Amino acid sequence: MRMAAINHRAVGLAGDRAWDIAEASGGAFGPDPMQVLGNWDAFGAWAAGNAPDGGDAYSAGELTCPVPRPPQAFGIGLNYADHAGESGMEVPDDPLVFTKFPSCVAAPNCDIPLVPGNCDWEVELVVVIGRAGRNIAAADVADHIAGFTVGQDVSERIGQFAGGFPQFNLGKSHRNFAPVGPAVVTLDELDNPWDLRLTCSINGVMMQDARTTYLINDIPRLVTYLSSICELLPGDIIFTGTPSGVGMGMDPPQFLEPGDLIVSTVEGLGEITNRCV
Ligand code: ZN
Repeated sequence: MRMAAINHRAVGLAGDRAWDIAEASGGAFGPDPMQVLGNWDAFGAWAAGNAPDGGDAYSAGELTCPVPRPPQAFGIGLNYADHAGESGMEVPDDPLVFTKFPSCVAAPNCDIPLVPGNCDWEVELVVVIGRAGRNIAAADVADHIAGFTVGQDVSERIGQFAGGFPQFNLGKSHRNFAPVGPAVVTLDELDNPWDLRLTCSINGVMMQDARTTYLINDIPRLVTYLSSICELLPGDIIFTGTPSGVGMGMDPPQFLEPGDLIVSTVEGLGEITNRCV
């Protein structure tokens, strides 16, 4: 199952076609994608026997955010060893967690308005929670995940590291600094959901190219850790960290400029394309 959104209505994707979830289910699910995520187990059971295999043609530019109002949006820092190295920072024992405030979550192919400072790119695999839980056991993690999607953790570095005790949150929460999509993809769609290639190119030049097997804290560890502190809720998203190749790690550093085109991909999940303005 691939759940996306068009005109803010939840749709299922079948190849290059999209079908409206509220119409197909007679109003049982949707049209709000957050309502579908809030009833994810029941929706999955219904879709297994009833999902249409056709629909209407659509274009990537029509897609709106498949997780438009996550109750909580977590980010994980320094979760690939090579990226921690280029950042010049020590890898912490426990996951380094910050917030991307939910108002920055945006459509998969939106424009990104740059702000004063040093705006940088970070391709990431994003986990979407489908079933609430506290103290989730590692063996149960997959049952709590609605699916994966592609995200850009756009980051303004001066704000991110400002202050004697840097708080990453605000530098990563400007308008449209968290495009996600194109769809929430269930794990059964993926041959090996724990080993996916992710890439980011800027103006056609490959800047990041890694695999999620290189995560320091893997996805089960992140879900067990976060749920030991916060109740995870349907529609929560977790940006799982970015590999090396971000602009601040380059010599000399390189940051986003108006007109730059960011293309972010995760194997099996699709790609998102964002124009800086
Ligand atoms: Zn990040």
